[in-house]
Amino acid sequence: MDITKLIRKNIINLTPYSSARDEFDHVAEVYLDANENPFQNGFNRYPDPYQSKVKARLSKIKGIPATNILLGNGSDEVLDLIYRAFCEPGVDNVISHNPSYGMYPVLSEINNLTLRKVNLETGFTLNAQKMIDASDEQTKLFFICSPNNPSGNILAREEVKKILDLQKGLVVIDEAYIDFAETDSWLSELDNYPNLIVCQTLSKAWGLAGLRVGMCFASQEIIQVLNAIKPPYNVNELSQQAALKVLNEEENFKTNLKIILEEKLKMERELDGLPCILKRYPSDANFILVRVNDAKVLYDYLMERQIIVRNRSKEYLCDNCLRLTIGTPEENQRLLMGIEDYNRI
Ligand SMILES: *Cc1c(COP(=O)(O)O)cnc(C)c1O
Repeated sequence: MDITKLIRKNIINLTPYSSARDEFDHVAEVYLDANENPFQNGFNRYPDPYQSKVKARLSKIKGIPATNILLGNGSDEVLDLIYRAFCEPGVDNVISHNPSYGMYPVLSEINNLTLRKVNLETGFTLNAQKMIDASDEQTKLFFICSPNNPSGNILAREEVKKILDLQKGLVVIDEAYIDFAETDSWLSELDNYPNLIVCQTLSKAWGLAGLRVGMCFASQEIIQVLNAIKPPYNVNELSQQAALKVLNEEENFKTNLKIILEEKLKMERELDGLPCILKRYPSDANFILVRVNDAKVLYDYLMERQIIVRNRSKEYLCDNCLRLTIGTPEENQRLLMGIEDYNRI
């Protein structure tokens, strides 16, 4: 499969911005090349444009060479870069399943692209053939969100494989919640599929949502294109330092993850015993989707008690559904008490 054929013409011919750190990336004693302020305050220098320390650590953790990794200002930036590198505005189209993450339609609109939404089957299962049938010569990207937001389930491997095997367009697998799942990541398949892009993030299981660090794993060819169009200093110094710190404290990560997963099990058990929960969907993520009698009424009731959940009722297959994030044991207890009290009225 020839990836170059998928790249936008103007991007192939692009001369990327060359930053001071691109032109000299060794160690010196005096730096007078970037018009920085010389007085030290911890942040007076531009950050490493290729985040090499963070990538070296990620490479160890994920078992992927640093040359196959791109970091973004959140995975939302990574997704935007993918759109801009491969999709010709007003001409190309992209395909996602429905329901899924709300950024795919927004990015499609910003880039003036048609997003073809293919409905998931009951139980939020993926029918790959339907996505394939929706594609044509102008299809550049297929978005697969697994575990899926807002449903919480992993999408079947054999189905996703069918889309990858088609070798038409790039398949972006958004694994924002993969750390919570027992299923393996698609990272191990990178060598087998030149058209595979895996997106992950430090925002969820790693606890750095406020610092915006997204990860993209793909072939060197794809990473090079994205590197060429990204803003030079897209991940700031503070974020790089904090990312390195949390990635070096893996024990902490594992402890927190374990608590969240135990809390999820507990919440699932408790929710199943509450009469107003009509259905509880299985979750491979750090949230649970539930169906209730009247989502709006329960949402408002909880809000009055200072508890905010997400009302997903307007999404396909999500009539009267609320999405509940797993919080601390105390927060989860408050949510349960809120729903129990609601049951009594
Ligand atoms: C939360 C989330 C992200 C994370 O985006 P960041 O920009 O890295 O915070 C990406 N994809 C999905 C499906 C999400 O739910």
